[in-house]
Amino acid sequence: MASQKQNDSSAAGYQPLFKSFATDAIHVGSEPEQWNSRAVVPPISLSTTFKQHGPGKHAGFDYSRSGNPTRSCLERAVAALDGAQYCLALASGLAATLTITHLFKAGDGILCMNDVYGGTNRYFRKVAAEVGFDVSFADLTKLELLKAALKPNTKMVWIETPTNPTMKVVDIKGCSDIVHEHNKDIIVVVDNTFMSSYFQRPLALGADICMYSATKYINGHSDVVMGLISLNRDDIYERLKFLQNALGAVPSPFDCYMCNRGLKTLHVRMKQHFKNAMAAAQFLEADPRVDKVIFPGLPSHPQHELTKRQCTGCPGMITFYIKGKLEHASTFLSSLKLFALAESLGGYESLAEHPAIMTHASVSENERKELGISDTLIRLSVGLEDEEDIIADLNQALAAAVSISTLYVIVCISICRASFSDQRCF
Ligand SMILES: *Cc1c(COP(=O)(O)O)cnc(C)c1O
Repeated sequence: MASQKQNDSSAAGYQPLFKSFATDAIHVGSEPEQWNSRAVVPPISLSTTFKQHGPGKHAGFDYSRSGNPTRSCLERAVAALDGAQYCLALASGLAATLTITHLFKAGDGILCMNDVYGGTNRYFRKVAAEVGFDVSFADLTKLELLKAALKPNTKMVWIETPTNPTMKVVDIKGCSDIVHEHNKDIIVVVDNTFMSSYFQRPLALGADICMYSATKYINGHSDVVMGLISLNRDDIYERLKFLQNALGAVPSPFDCYMCNRGLKTLHVRMKQHFKNAMAAAQFLEADPRVDKVIFPGLPSHPQHELTKRQCTGCPGMITFYIKGKLEHASTFLSSLKLFALAESLGGYESLAEHPAIMTHASVSENERKELGISDTLIRLSVGLEDEEDIIADLNQALAAAVSISTLYVIVCISICRASFSDQRCF
C-alpha cells in the first residue's frame, strides 16, 4: 500500500504516495494480451451485443448495458488505483449517488455531511426524501455530532472531504470507526471527487464505498461526464452490479475510453495541480485585497494536520473571500482572463466561480449562510498553466475588483480609527 521510500509528499509531512500508482494507472486494465489484435491502447467497443457460442454461453459479455469491454478496462484501472477489488462506472457522479442510494429502501436513514456538492444536497433533499428516505444532515467534522446523529434506522453515512465549497476536512477513519462500532452494517460512503485516488484512499481508511464524479480530476480534461464507485465488499458489489444493469445509468464506451485515457496522466496532473494551487493560495493569503483563504495545504487551514494525516497532498481547489461585497466578487470574476468563469472543476484549465449564485444556488439561503457560502466567497479550480501566469491573472482581477480607491478608503478608515483613539483626528 504505502511506499516505504521517502518521497516528495512524505517529506512535506503528508502520507507517503501510494506504491506503483503511476504504473497501475498506465497498465492495469490495458493489457494488450486481452485482444486478439494485441492493441496496446484498448479499442472502443461500440457493439451493443455480443455473439454467443450457444444459448446463454458467452465470452464474458452479452449486452452492452450489462457489461462492455471498454468499460471493463476503465473499471479495472480505477479499482487498482483505489486499492479496491471492484469498480463500477456510471453515467455521471449523480448516477453513482442514486445507484448507491438504491441499496436501501424507503424509511431507511441517510446521514449526510452538511456541506456537500450542491447536486448531492439537492438529490438527497428533493428526490430521496420525497420518496420516503429519512434524510438528515450533520457537521461530520465534529465526531461527537456524528455520534449524536446516528439513529436506529441509519443505513448510510455520506461523507464528502474536503467539502464543497468551504473545504472542511472530515476525518474518514474517525467517522468510519464510530459508525461501524455503532453498527457494522451501516455503509460509509466517501465522495472522493476532490482528492482523487492519487491523494486519498477512503477504503484504506475504513470506508465501505468510495465514489467519484469522474467528470472532475479523474478524467481531468473537462470533456466527459461520468461517475465511479470503488469497493471491496463482495455482497455490496453484487448488489451494485445488479443495480448498474437494472437501473441502467451506464456510460457510453466512447466516454469510458476517454476517461481511461485521462486517467493515464492522473498522477502527473495532480502533482502539478498541488504545486500551482499552493503558489496561488500563498499569493492570495498574503494579499491585502483578500479577507481569507481556505486551502487544506496551507498551515492556516484549521484541519491542515488532519489533511496531512489522511492524504498524500492537495488538489487544485481553493476557496477565498474577497474584501468588499457581492459587486467586488462579481467584478473579480468577470475581470479574469486566464481563468474561465464556469462551473465544474478538476480539468487542466483554470476555472473560477461564485458558489452562492452558481453551483450552490440550489442550497437554501439560510443554509448557505450557516455554511459560510457568502456573496464574497469565490471558488477556484487551479489548472495546469504556468504558475506565474495564474498568479498574474489573479492579481490583475483583484486590482480591477478592489480598486486603489477602495483600498485607500479601507486604509483611511483604519488610520482614522487609530487616530481617533489618539484624539488627533476629527
Ligand atoms: C460534480 C460533483 C458531483 C456530481 O457529479 P456529476 O458527474 O456532475 O454528476 C458529485 N460530487 C462532487 C464533489 C462533485 O464535484
